[in-house]
Amino acid sequence: MTGNGIIVNEYLQTSNPDIYGAGDIAFSPYRTLGQQMRVEHWDNALNLGKLAGMNMAGANEPLNYMPYFFSDLFELGYEAVGDINGELETFADWQKENDTGIIYYMKDGRIRGIMLCNVSEKVEEARNLILKNEKVKPESLRGAIR
Ligand SMILES: Cc1cc2nc3c(=O)[nH]c(=O)nc-3n(C[C@H](O)[C@H](O)[C@H](O)COP(=O)(O)OP(=O)(O)OC[C@H]3O[C@@H](n4cnc5c(N)ncnc54)[C@H](O)[C@@H]3O)c2cc1C
Repeated sequence: MTGNGIIVNEYLQTSNPDIYGAGDIAFSPYRTLGQQMRVEHWDNALNLGKLAGMNMAGANEPLNYMPYFFSDLFELGYEAVGDINGELETFADWQKENDTGIIYYMKDGRIRGIMLCNVSEKVEEARNLILKNEKVKPESLRGAIR
């Protein structure tokens, strides 16, 4: 079955349970975010591909992955965790305007995604903040990750 990609369940099975889907092509249920999404990033393809292979071999492991990607554009190195859909509200906590800092993507007062711009080794903190799924005031996020 298709929607925004090939629809898979939490074990990455398509509507035919003997056929699995992973990576760019799969519309997968991310329980870490409570939503079905299609993620077009390298780390996602690597992790979901591995999980699909494990489940084909009988592991029966549900998808428990938080979307993540990294990229470099000239001097800007960034990493993004969770859902950074451009339609979400954003709150920017810059240390240096438009260069170094953190952008929070919010929905209904909860953090859905975090982009780390020229800020390294903070992915785990970002992931944990999203997983808390607490209602927060954007201003209270200033300095939350440094
Ligand atoms: C220009 C560019 C820049 C990117 N930069 C980043 C980045 O900075 N960071 C990041 O995280 N991600 C980046 N990505 C995305 C990342 O490359 C993809 O998310 C990742 O490669 C997806 O892997 P995949 O295995 O799902 O799909 P693919 O890598 O597309 O592999 C699918 C394979 O299936 C083959 N195929 C297609 N149809 C058939 C068929 N009918 N039969 C047999 N084989 C078939 C294709 O030839 C291909 O080899 C970038 C992508 C592009 C195009």
